[in-house]
Amino acid sequence: MKYFSFQEFERSGTAYRHGIANTAPESARKNIAVLVDKVLDPLREAWGKPIAVTSGYRCAALNKAVGGSATSHHCKGMAADLTTGNCVENRRIFQLIMDMGLPFTQLIDEKNFSWVHVSLDPADVKRQVLKL
Ligand SMILES: [Zn+2]
Repeated sequence: MKYFSFQEFERSGTAYRHGIANTAPESARKNIAVLVDKVLDPLREAWGKPIAVTSGYRCAALNKAVGGSATSHHCKGMAADLTTGNCVENRRIFQLIMDMGLPFTQLIDEKNFSWVHVSLDPADVKRQVLKL
């Protein structure tokens, strides 16, 4: 993990407001490290500019608070919502993830590139691309 920290994956405005600790257990940290090493760090290296994680790990209480799917990869530390700060560049990193041939389970354009969701379950690298 070169460009991203566990703290960045655990930080959540919603968790803070609800008094939820949202600390990733060791099992989730292992998955976060895989996601960063295989996808996020290579992407960040190629991109050459900051990429922020707006939602990374979600404990059960936080996932419920944000209305996330019970089977969300976020709950396992296998997903990250990314933004460069604007939709134009978010579209570019979305394309870059595909062009670089990075492994992923799902790559999702969220709300016309308001953010980009990327997940990696190493046992299920189906490279599914979606628009929500
Ligand atoms: Zn997401």
